Amino acid sequence: MASGLGRWFPSAFTKASAAFHGAAAVALAWDSSLLPIVVSGLVANHLILSTVGLVPRGSLLGPNITRLPDAAAALGHVALTIDDGPDAAVTPAVLEILDRYKVRATFFAIGSQILAAPELAREIVRRGHGLENHSATHPHHFSLLGVRGMTNEVANGQRVIREVTGFESRFFRAPAGLRNPLLQPVLSSMGLRLASWTRRGFDTVERDPSRVRGRLLDGLAAGDIILLHDGAAARTRSGQPVILEVLPSVLDTIAARGLSTVTLREAFS
Ligand SMILES: [Zn+2]
Repeated sequence: MASGLGRWFPSAFTKASAAFHGAAAVALAWDSSLLPIVVSGLVANHLILSTVGLVPRGSLLGPNITRLPDAAAALGHVALTIDDGPDAAVTPAVLEILDRYKVRATFFAIGSQILAAPELAREIVRRGHGLENHSATHPHHFSLLGVRGMTNEVANGQRVIREVTGFESRFFRAPAGLRNPLLQPVLSSMGLRLASWTRRGFDTVERDPSRVRGRLLDGLAAGDIILLHDGAAARTRSGQPVILEVLPSVLDTIAARGLSTVTLREAFS
């Protein structure tokens, strides 16, 4: 569908919501006694808008990548995406595992984490992985931000990656996948594409590696985008970051099923 690059093309849902606001203004100008009805309609519309923004894999608010393109799927490709780092205690071991399997992943890094571990961010790029934008500070209220707040989070995340590593990110992943209708025009103006995932293991809260593995691997298919975390990783009962426990078996299974791993950039180039 629309590439979303350069120009903002509002989704049909966003357009309908805007049209509804226009109609509400006309109705009020025509007859102010309609106020209670108009207000409840607008409240309902905003509830819907904020609710659909809480569906990470939804596309009602604009284009949202949740799988690789058909051409990549036909080649048996999957993508491994790793969020919330870099993390000095976890990322070096993740990079070693990826090297051992000769796999390239896509890291959705947080600007403040990059500033705390700039050498690790450069190492990610040096080893050929993708380094993409996961906001400047990963605020938990990201979906409540206005245009200025969202622009700052996206632009500063982009700037930190560029200044520290020289890498030009092309994808943005919203913190926790949550967003609002203001995000798409912000991303379009910066030439970024919103990327979510096909399957995630909830490995920032799930301490049982076998359950994370099950969520990632049961039904795994060509074209899937997998989400794991090197930053904010939950620890197993023995104190090990879950991703380190899970990653080798995920990569073994990918290979055993005849699939291969590409970065998002490779899949969408
Ligand atoms: Zn995150």
